[in-house]
Amino acid sequence: MKKLAKILTMALVGAFVVSVFTACGGSKSEDKLVMATNATFPPYEYVDGDAYKGIDVEVAQAIADKLGMELDIRDVEFGSIIAGVQSGKFDMGMAGMTVTDERKQSVDFSDTYAIGIQSVIVREDSEIQSVDDISSANKIGVQQDTTGDIYSTDDYGEDSVTRFKAGTDAVQALVSGKVDCVIIDNEPAKSYVAANGGLKILDTSYAEEEYAICVKKGNDELLGKINDALKELKEDGTIDTIVAKYIK
Ligand code: GLN
Repeated sequence: MKKLAKILTMALVGAFVVSVFTACGGSKSEDKLVMATNATFPPYEYVDGDAYKGIDVEVAQAIADKLGMELDIRDVEFGSIIAGVQSGKFDMGMAGMTVTDERKQSVDFSDTYAIGIQSVIVREDSEIQSVDDISSANKIGVQQDTTGDIYSTDDYGEDSVTRFKAGTDAVQALVSGKVDCVIIDNEPAKSYVAANGGLKILDTSYAEEEYAICVKKGNDELLGKINDALKELKEDGTIDTIVAKYIK
């Protein structure tokens, strides 16, 4: 009898240990904040050596610190961030992501933490001197699935728009003459222009927008925590300090 009880106890303990391990062994554990981003978007997110850097990376780290969670960054294509957040693969998406009504159908957005501007990059000798000069006769380069892609497809038609996986690829196509302009967010545009000779940003902007963090629809608990953290980080000047490090 005694022996049987002992065996049963051990079996129970074993089952318990296994279940604890299983609970912790998934792709996400309770104390991790998994952030999906696309690290080709300086100064918001980019790879420097073997580290992720940028405004979003530092703001996300400050949020994770406030929540007592470990930040786990996953670098994916911009266009797969929302689907991954919807499926629960990632807890949040933060990638200089513009709040749009269409995206709001798929995910919930935090309060905004930055203003974004869609700018137009051209070659210095370009015939395109202002946004009004762009027409459907032009070849427009964009980063796939971004608002630059969505708006320019609406305005100039599918045939005028060439989509690239990364902003850097679109800019290379502009340098080599494969496209006539690139429509992309202003801060990355400045980095790309600084990194390549012979390019400039038009004085007139194409669109103005707001950046926010997205979470799975209905994840009010995390959204509330993110918004509380953002509020504190705005009020105590942390966000301004981070932005000032990257945008002079
Ligand atoms: N702000 C743009 C968007 O949300 C581009 C973001 C990005 O390329 N990381 O579509």
